[in-house]
Amino acid sequence: MNLSVRQELSELARKSVLHWDCPLRGNTTFDIGGPAAALVEIEDADELQQILTVVTRNNIAWRVIGRGSNLLVADQGFDGVILLFGRNFGTIETLGGEDGDHVLIRVGAGCSMSRLVDWCCAEGLTGVEFLTGIPGTVGGGVVMNVGAWGFSLAERLKSLTLLEADGAMREIPRAELDFDYRLWRDKQIGGRLRVVMAADLSLERDESQVIKRRCRELRNQRISKQPRSMKNAGSFFKNPPGAAAGRLIDQCGLKGLRQGGAMVSEEHGNFLVNTGGATAGDVRTLMVRIQARVKEQFGVELEPEVHFIGF
Ligand SMILES: Cc1cc2nc3c(=O)[nH]c(=O)nc-3n(C[C@H](O)[C@H](O)[C@H](O)COP(=O)(O)OP(=O)(O)OC[C@H]3O[C@@H](n4cnc5c(N)ncnc54)[C@H](O)[C@@H]3O)c2cc1C
Repeated sequence: MNLSVRQELSELARKSVLHWDCPLRGNTTFDIGGPAAALVEIEDADELQQILTVVTRNNIAWRVIGRGSNLLVADQGFDGVILLFGRNFGTIETLGGEDGDHVLIRVGAGCSMSRLVDWCCAEGLTGVEFLTGIPGTVGGGVVMNVGAWGFSLAERLKSLTLLEADGAMREIPRAELDFDYRLWRDKQIGGRLRVVMAADLSLERDESQVIKRRCRELRNQRISKQPRSMKNAGSFFKNPPGAAAGRLIDQCGLKGLRQGGAMVSEEHGNFLVNTGGATAGDVRTLMVRIQARVKEQFGVELEPEVHFIGF
């Protein structure tokens, strides 16, 4: 990135915080990855729009990230601008006018899903208990159509506030958005990514104590099933139709398989873990080895759920 662009971006980021040559590993739950040329913690929507205008005009690569809990960042990093939402985008508000049993809330893209769950428990709102124990932000959750226990976030979506490819902010109803299993199909338009600014969710009323109990049960089930001691990005592969990726990997005898510092978790076949000092290259090589073995044994192509940056 040349000096004049750097200067322009520095001048634009007044409320937002700009870091140059910023290591990204600390922004991922894998704890892996090289630096970004720039990382901006966005605290103001106008600044985001202006920064994206400069970045796109100069053909600089960019990406919004959340908590990095579904990301693998390349060892050489990302030669572009990484944007993430700061505190000002972590708000939750109830939107007026309850519609029968339904209560509409607006959640900022930077709000953590754990805060959303806690808030709903306290307010006596049911519908997002399945998010209990899943790291990440609501923005990242939307893009991934995060889900568990047979539920997914798109089912609760009423609309999204998006910063669109033409630089305009728009509220788009759920009916005009195309979601599938761990997939938001129209997350980009005309080759440019849309930025999730906020999500409106439709929830129902229930007793706080009942909701809390459900959350506690789901948390306990999660704890008993997933590795906790080593860094990871959750399920690495999507479940192929009619099968569980973790079971296929297990049946191939791949639990414990190592590649450098990366390993297939002994506890859960679909979790690749950083045993300490793993590189993104280790994880990618391990991924390819797993895919080859599962394809050979079951004829099934495993598709990564994890998103890649800088490859
Ligand atoms: C221990 C563990 C358990 C997990 N369990 C589950 C589970 O049960 N179910 C499940 O579905 N997932 C699970 N995950 C994966 C992960 O937590 C989810 O996919 C989560 O929704 C990712 O959110 P994030 O904010 O970390 O997004 P990131 O990983 O930062 O980003 C994911 C994608 O979204 C994009 N993005 C992020 N924010 C925005 C935005 N505002 N606008 C536009 N694009 C954006 C990024 O560019 C990237 O492409 C788990 C992960 C871990 C580590």
